[in-house]
Amino acid sequence: MSEPILEVRGLTKYYPLTRGIVLKKQIGSVRAVDGVDLDLTAGETLGIVGESGSGKSTLARLLVQLERPTQGTIRYKGEDITRLSGRALKAVRRNIQMVFQDPYTSLNPRMTVGDIIAEPFAIHPEAAPRGDRRRRVRELLDVVGLNPEYVNRYPHQFSGGQRQRIGIARGLALRPEIIVADEPVSALDVSVQAQVINLLDRLQSEFRLSYVFIAHDLSIVRHISDRIAVMYLGRVMETGRDEEIYEHPTHPYTQALLSAVPVPDPGARDRRERILLGGDLPSPAHIPSGCRFRTRCWKARERCELEVPQLEVPAEFRIWEGPAHHPSACHFAAERQVVPPSE
Ligand code: ADP
Ligand code: MG
Repeated sequence: MSEPILEVRGLTKYYPLTRGIVLKKQIGSVRAVDGVDLDLTAGETLGIVGESGSGKSTLARLLVQLERPTQGTIRYKGEDITRLSGRALKAVRRNIQMVFQDPYTSLNPRMTVGDIIAEPFAIHPEAAPRGDRRRRVRELLDVVGLNPEYVNRYPHQFSGGQRQRIGIARGLALRPEIIVADEPVSALDVSVQAQVINLLDRLQSEFRLSYVFIAHDLSIVRHISDRIAVMYLGRVMETGRDEEIYEHPTHPYTQALLSAVPVPDPGARDRRERILLGGDLPSPAHIPSGCRFRTRCWKARERCELEVPQLEVPAEFRIWEGPAHHPSACHFAAERQVVPPSE
């Protein structure tokens, strides 16, 4: 396997929880991202899935350096980028771009599409000579499937799907290597979602991009992801190749998320139990002890309250190669697995 282009280790982001308006007294912290480990290999798509509030957007902002982590490292091609500043930080930022969730609020309504797409050149003038920018913008419109003649129109003259194409064109302007897409289709009509996903897929091969693709729903990331990480309350609970997660999930949280996904094949539907998650997501200001999922887990026992499960391949599986042998942060990940046939 090739070297990861991004290596995330022990990444945390805590926000102070304050009381009072004038004398903001800190009374705790919101642990939005709480010890995340991830690898992204060049050219692949890593899907990140989790309920709303699980820290996905915070993780995205950390990856593109819009925010600094409280702790942990993000290595880009081997170099920790969390402590860079000035010119070195700018150079890295150029290579890791973000596509935002909501195409209605992330585009300035008073700017023309051409100016929106050219905006990154103002921050990185070295990326395209001034005289060439107009041509580049038209080329970018064409690349994302929009008519280059629309360059002087305003965002409100476009549909949601078209606006997200504009956001994608802006993300591509600096020819980045990595795109972090934070729920890029969640705000779009279902009929338009597939078109935008297909566009991202095509752009990936055309420009050899690596993607971190965030969604709150496993059905959306399935088509586009090579590997998937399932997040819960700021942490990765299970990670693996796409068939490992979809066909052999070992974490109860993943199993619950999957049971909510419609299955087209009726045979598969019979085999899959429907699991309804009880209760709400706990507040990231009050994360349960031990396993953070235990308050909603139907398998939880005493050990889960006392001991934090690490994200690792269950010991019972380590001697075999197989789809269940991927990292899972559950003490009982091995329990429901079928023993693989002996060779
Ligand atoms: P997701 O994208 O998965 O819905 P977020 O990363 O947006 O999750 O949020 C995770 C948690 O962190 C939420 O409880 C949210 O309220 C909190 N949070 C996010 N940003 C901030 C911030 N700037 N200040 C305080 N709390 C924040
Ligand atoms: Mg979010």
